[in-house]
Amino acid sequence: MDQRVSRRHRAGPVPPVGQLVAVRCPSVLCQNMLVALDGGAIGAHSSLAHLGQCTWSGVGIHDDREGG
Ligand SMILES: [Zn+2]
Repeated sequence: MDQRVSRRHRAGPVPPVGQLVAVRCPSVLCQNMLVALDGGAIGAHSSLAHLGQCTWSGVGIHDDREGG
């Protein structure tokens, strides 16, 4: 008997559980816009409330959650 165990499909690279992939921008101008992280820092982004790139772009973040 050849019983196959169904495999779970993966859509792509899955980050380790608990790893931050995006944060809410602290800028009031961004109004808690969800911004993807870029190498542990806030990714480049802009909002309609201001011209050009948000000043928080590139700012490193520290995951201060407790216990994952
Ligand atoms: Zn921002």
